Amino acid sequence: EPISALDVSIQAQVLNLLMDAQESRGLTYLFITHDLAVVEHFGTRVAVMYLGRVCELADTKTLFATPRHPYTQALLSAIPKLEDDRPNHIRLQGEVPTPVNLPSGCVFHGRCPYANERCRQEVPQLIATDGGGQVACHAVEEGRL
Ligand code: SF4
Repeated sequence: EPISALDVSIQAQVLNLLMDAQESRGLTYLFITHDLAVVEHFGTRVAVMYLGRVCELADTKTLFATPRHPYTQALLSAIPKLEDDRPNHIRLQGEVPTPVNLPSGCVFHGRCPYANERCRQEVPQLIATDGGGQVACHAVEEGRL
């Protein structure tokens, strides 16, 4: 979260400096943030994590246009938009589990509207998606989502 404590205008300056340095020096950044606007503006490839596990990996455009994992979908639906009253906003139920006692199976199963028995028992592995990304979700793998 290298810029989270900064004023928005300073954030923009720092991001622009980083992008200039990236171009002139051919750098790669590993950028960790909760700010989805920064991710969309700055990222080229995004890994979405929940409780320390990667649940989805894709290039930025694909991820924001067609999120596949239920957690990614909920995250992106929470971005405020001026043009509508957020009719598609997904409200997750339940609480985030404690990282010292992770749930069995998929760590998201207690909050996921698509969870089934397999989700409670088996950890989903990353599988390739049509858009060139990867997602760790039994519902996607089974064609339920
Ligand atoms: S694996 Fe199951 S619980 Fe986890 S995100 Fe997919 S559908 Fe939901």
